[in-house]
Amino acid sequence: SLSACPIGRFAPSPTGELHLGSLTTALASYCHIKSLGGNWLLRIEDTDTERCDRQFSEQILIDLETLSLHWDGDVVYQSERIDIYNEYLSSILAPLTYGCLCSRKSLERYWERKAIIESHNLQNATQKLLNRQRYPRCCIEANLAKDRYKLRLQLPDYLIGFQDGIQGLQWDNPQQTLGDMVVRRQDGMINYILAASLDDGLQGVTHIMRGLDILPMTTAQISIMQAARLPAIDQWYHLPLICNPDGQKLSKQNLAQPIDTRKPSQLIAMALQLLQQPAVDMDTPARMLKQAITQWDNTPLQGKDTLNTPTH
Ligand code: GLU
Repeated sequence: SLSACPIGRFAPSPTGELHLGSLTTALASYCHIKSLGGNWLLRIEDTDTERCDRQFSEQILIDLETLSLHWDGDVVYQSERIDIYNEYLSSILAPLTYGCLCSRKSLERYWERKAIIESHNLQNATQKLLNRQRYPRCCIEANLAKDRYKLRLQLPDYLIGFQDGIQGLQWDNPQQTLGDMVVRRQDGMINYILAASLDDGLQGVTHIMRGLDILPMTTAQISIMQAARLPAIDQWYHLPLICNPDGQKLSKQNLAQPIDTRKPSQLIAMALQLLQQPAVDMDTPARMLKQAITQWDNTPLQGKDTLNTPTH
C-alpha cells in the first residue's frame, strides 16, 4: 500500500446500544491499529432505516467517548452517502448489475417446483426449501429497468483467497456462498456490505478487524472493491465471537445486555481479559488504553472462533 499510516475503523450498525460483543470489537480494533501507530475511524452503518435509530448512534458515540475510545477525524454516517453508492452502481459497477423482480414468494415457488422435479419427494422438497438458496439468476437476461426494481450484483464464481491475521488462510467462492446479492432494494435501501466495501475503499482503510460473523461476506467485499477499482485492504482480522457461558453468541437478537458505562475502567479490564490480553493496571480509561496498546498481542486469539464470558 502507498499509505504510510495504517487506517483501521469501527463500523457499528446502530440497531441497538453497544453490548459486550460490539465493545470488544471496538476495543480490539482500536488497540490493534493504535499499536501500529495508525488512525482509527468511526463509521455509522445506518443505511437500514427500518432497523437503525439516531438515538442508538448518539448513544454509541457517548459510550465510546466515556471509554476514551476516541476516533480520528469526523464520524461518517452512511445514511448521508446514499448518492455516492448509487453513483458507483450506475457507473463503474453497472456492468455487473441487473434489475430483478423476483419476490420471496416467486422464489419459493421456483425452489418448490425444482425440488419436486428433482426428487419426486415432497418431504425432501420441503427440506430443500428450508435451506437458504442462493439466487438462481432468473432475471439475469431479462434486461429490466435497473431503477424500477431491486438491483442485484453479479459476484464472481471462483475461489478467492486471503490471509486473515487471526483465522489464517481463507478461501471462498462468493457466488456459491452469497449468489448475486441484492445491492439495492426496490425502495432504494442500499445493502450494507456494498456500502461498507465502497466506504472502506474511499476512506483508505488498510486494516479491517471485525467480528467473525462478517467473514462469509469478505470475499464478496474483496471482489466489490476490485470491481470498483478501489485499493485493496492490506490486512484482515476476524475476531472470535463472544459467547455466553452456555455457548450462545452475544448479539442484539438474543438481547445481549447493553454495556453499563458507569464503571468504564472495569468494562475495559473485562473486555481486555476476554480478548486474552495481558492485564493492565486499574486506572482511568485513557491510561488503561495506553497500556493496553503497548501490550497488544493478536496471538492469543489466533485460530479461535469463540471467546467465552466467565461464569459468575
Ligand atoms: N456494521 C457491521 C456490524 O455492526 C460491521 C461491518 C464491518 O465491520 O465491516 O455488524
